[in-house]
Amino acid sequence: MGMFDTIYAELICPFCGRQYRHTPLSWEQAKRECEERKEGELKYAQPPDNPWDELFRHTQAMRARADGYPVREGKYEQEDILAWIEQLDSPENIERWRTRKELGLAEIQTKAFDSILEMYFVGDPVPAHRGHYFIEEGFTCQGCREKNEREYVKVWIEIEDRRIKAVLTHNPETGQPEREPPLPAKEFVGDEAAMTSFKDWQAKQKKDPGFVAALNELEPGYQISRLRIQHGMTQAQLAEMVGVQEATIARLESGSHIPSLSLLRRIAEALGSRIELRFLPGDAKRTKQ
Ligand SMILES: [Zn+2]
Repeated sequence: MGMFDTIYAELICPFCGRQYRHTPLSWEQAKRECEERKEGELKYAQPPDNPWDELFRHTQAMRARADGYPVREGKYEQEDILAWIEQLDSPENIERWRTRKELGLAEIQTKAFDSILEMYFVGDPVPAHRGHYFIEEGFTCQGCREKNEREYVKVWIEIEDRRIKAVLTHNPETGQPEREPPLPAKEFVGDEAAMTSFKDWQAKQKKDPGFVAALNELEPGYQISRLRIQHGMTQAQLAEMVGVQEATIARLESGSHIPSLSLLRRIAEALGSRIELRFLPGDAKRTKQ
């Protein structure tokens, strides 16, 4: 693969000028992350008395297959999962992790499964679409968010020959940069009346792909249901895995319940994800550096 300083993608925020470049991880960092991942997977691979063995195995089999690792069904499944875990920190995997393309990531709503958002990178083939066209997405610029945590930059994903060719910060029709409309902060934690109006408003906005991208970032319930569907799990199965009532997951996903951080952590773990928490400066004029 490429040299350490290979750059796969770059983007400049038209509002604050911040540059985004994808530079591969150092070998040491990639190795550390691969080892941590292996440790995490091992924790779930051999719990002899765990009543949720079946579910953990199912989730691990899916993660292994998503990794491109062949896992047979039935009696060889566990064996194949262990083989997959064993090679998670192999030199090939570390190299793959190290050069992972992070910028130019797009979430595309596929026509075949319109509730599932798939992730693609620049250069990736995309399914079921033809010709040359653009898809709008929200891009979370850290520079802009330092000034206003609810500000997002709109980007356009250029698709040609069914591959993501580029990520653009200017509207290809007007040539102008655009901001994502900010989300109404109050309505996220308001009373029931506010929540109802928020739900109506959200139902309308959900038709806008740019909004959906922003929503993915901001609303844990939406992210949880999206990840759960991607993992092929029911609400009941996820509830069992994290040891709560099914109704708790349902309330969480519908946005009518604000979860505790510890519950979020357990859910993230069950879905093979992690939580990122940020404290941002409240003073709008303050910037880093
Ligand atoms: Zn910016």
